[in-house]
Amino acid sequence: MKVIHSQGTCGGVEACIELAPDYFHIDEDGMTQVSRPDVADEDVERVAEAVNECPTAALRLQKV
Ligand code: SF4
Repeated sequence: MKVIHSQGTCGGVEACIELAPDYFHIDEDGMTQVSRPDVADEDVERVAEAVNECPTAALRLQKV
């Protein structure tokens, strides 16, 4: 699975970083970025929770 982030719709709420700090971070400009787009099988459930908790629907999971 891959996690895709849409910068345009991200509201900077940081729920994704709280749930999966190993997959998301804030860059030097204060913008949320994906640290690791390829989601390990054992992390899919946790990253899916981050996707579902994103209040602006800026994240999605894509099968690869
Ligand atoms: S939870 Fe959604 S809106 Fe909040 S920082 Fe992450 S991607 Fe952006």
